[in-house]
Amino acid sequence: MTARIIDGKERAAEVCRMVTDAVALLKVERGVVPGLAVVLVGDDPASQVYVRNKAKQTLACGMRSLEHRLPVTATEAEVLALVGVLNRDPGVDGILVQLPLPKHIAEAAVIEAIDPGKDVDGFHPVNAGRLASNAPGLVPCTPLGCVLLAKSVMPELRGLEAVVIGRSNIVGKPVAQLLLREDCTVTIAHSRTRDLPGIVRRADLVVAAVGRPGMVRGDWIKPGAIVIDVGINRVPGEGGKSRLVGDVAFGEAVAVAGAITPVPGGVGPMTIACLLQNTLTAAKARRG
Ligand code: NAD
Repeated sequence: MTARIIDGKERAAEVCRMVTDAVALLKVERGVVPGLAVVLVGDDPASQVYVRNKAKQTLACGMRSLEHRLPVTATEAEVLALVGVLNRDPGVDGILVQLPLPKHIAEAAVIEAIDPGKDVDGFHPVNAGRLASNAPGLVPCTPLGCVLLAKSVMPELRGLEAVVIGRSNIVGKPVAQLLLREDCTVTIAHSRTRDLPGIVRRADLVVAAVGRPGMVRGDWIKPGAIVIDVGINRVPGEGGKSRLVGDVAFGEAVAVAGAITPVPGGVGPMTIACLLQNTLTAAKARRG
């Protein structure tokens, strides 16, 4: 058996088309054009690429993109002051502070300073609490993308045995909460889990969010399972170049799974699409 490859680019394009249509409608009916403010502190090359892509896709969906760049020497107080200005700006519907921040700035303090109604990354403790208590709120983008990808091959996830590997606040825990909302039976595995292969073998749905290249082996996968690979790992490739791989040994797992996301081209593209969807959600919620 060869697994169905879940095309993240195609699914992300569908989400972006829906957002584009909804933004056009909002403009015609209410004269509103949602605005996403992105704050970049410092000159980390990977972050610069992410921010550029986000801005490009925000504009492509018909929304406004507002970029704020601060030097790597910016103080925590300066970043907090900028977040305060964006919180008060009625033209800003979503605020995203690109992580990681320079080491001298406390990420938690910056995240907590963002107005929860504009927290399109869904990292604010208020939004985390809303997710945990099944209340409406803004949900982290990558976890939302994982669930949408799983539902693209199996619209009804109810009753599935789901194993999430990784317990970070930005991926593992929110993915687990979202799968619980879908009525899955959820196990969260992590670095101290005993017999990880045995636990993963039970899963109808596996979400790997660890950051270890190819850690999840093909013989850990239950035949026919859905495998969502969140990992992004850069490893040495041919000719001295590097290449990206996931947390799942793709070549092995594809022979056993029912459906699997590739890396790259799986979860990654969905993250930006869900960010745009969250910005639209935030704009609509703020304007009643
Ligand atoms: P993290 O380092 O914060 O968390 C990793 C988790 O993996 C931890 O909870 C840890 O307990 C667990 N872990 C570590 N070693 C383990 C082991 N041997 N067995 C079982 N569990 C183990 O990482 P994160 O921010 O959650 O990201 C995880 C991966 O997802 C990374 O590769 C990251 O680059 C990627 N990521 C991708 C996207 C995307 O858009 N596709 C977004 C966010 C993160």
